[in-house]
Amino acid sequence: MGEMHAPLQAQAGQTLAVPARQPADGTALAEAVVEHLLQVAASPRFKDETVPEALRGIKNFEQLLAIIWATRKMTLALSKGDLEYRSPEKGIIMGALKSFQSALKHLTWQTQCIAGGDYGHKVSFLGDFSEAFNYMAAQLAQRISLLNSTNEEYKNISEEYKNMSFRDALTGIYNRKAFMHFAEDIFTTIKPDISTLIIADIDKFKTFNDVYGHLCGDEVLKLFANYLAHALRPGDICSRYGGEEFLMLLPGMPLAVGLMIGERLRAGVEKLRLHFAGKELQITSSFGVCEIGLMPEDIPFDDFIRSCIGRADENLYKAKEGGRNRVVG
Ligand code: GH3
Ligand code: MG
Ligand code: MG
Repeated sequence: MGEMHAPLQAQAGQTLAVPARQPADGTALAEAVVEHLLQVAASPRFKDETVPEALRGIKNFEQLLAIIWATRKMTLALSKGDLEYRSPEKGIIMGALKSFQSALKHLTWQTQCIAGGDYGHKVSFLGDFSEAFNYMAAQLAQRISLLNSTNEEYKNISEEYKNMSFRDALTGIYNRKAFMHFAEDIFTTIKPDISTLIIADIDKFKTFNDVYGHLCGDEVLKLFANYLAHALRPGDICSRYGGEEFLMLLPGMPLAVGLMIGERLRAGVEKLRLHFAGKELQITSSFGVCEIGLMPEDIPFDDFIRSCIGRADENLYKAKEGGRNRVVG
């Protein structure tokens, strides 16, 4: 509270002089109210919920304070992802926060439904996120039906897996022959309208051979190959295309998703550690990514896939030129 003024009293027959400034205690009180509300609304460290003595009894002040405190707590809970936080407070702001919270809870439920195989859920309240989410659900549905429709194909081919002619002898993952076989199958029978092709190449791989010997190089290849093969999903093809180059086909995946997957793979590879001859070695890798549409009817598969690999390879070259350990698409 500011300084107190003695009340002005007009003597009989005297005109009261109006002070140049409004009553100082009124201004000071208003300032104290604003200061307190500011603290509650903006200061992260302010914790005291009691109403200061000097601010008690102001009409509606405590009600306003309660709303701001409740809004603050609800907002903080939401910012930490707490969807269970409950507030008894009502009003326009709290109402909006509560409906946002319940929309997020609904979204959680929808996500669980999609995880359980019910792909019909659509989100509409979150702008761009809704679009991305609905697209994801549609892609999932498409990929699952793609997988189901190819199950028969895969069963027939599985006999060929067994004779190992589709496996790379060193790493155990699919080889170039397997890649060509599966890719041709996918592009000629399933015909996904969109796919992503990723070519991955270990950075400075020759150094492992030169510094630690060929056996070490082989171990690096095995670690890298098995990481990639296990990081992809059923329905994707991961193969050792040759040397230290690996080719991955992601049917049904558009470039934007392919780039995210490439980035996930790149970051994952960077975290791998190879223990060789008492040393802990790290690998980095570069990725060239390109999107593939429907295969044109009048082009032989070999020509088609070669031109696709060429495009991915150009991006791999750019990734190497750009400094390695990166994804370009
Ligand atoms: P960059 O970052 O530009 O890709 O450089 P890099 O050293 O990885 O590429 P480069 O093409 O110069 O070297 C690839 C080496 O991989 C050369 C070859 O001897 C080696 N290599 C290919 N296949 C095998 C293999 O099966 N085992 C081992 N240990 N080395 C292999
Ligand atoms: Mg290479
Ligand atoms: Mg390399």
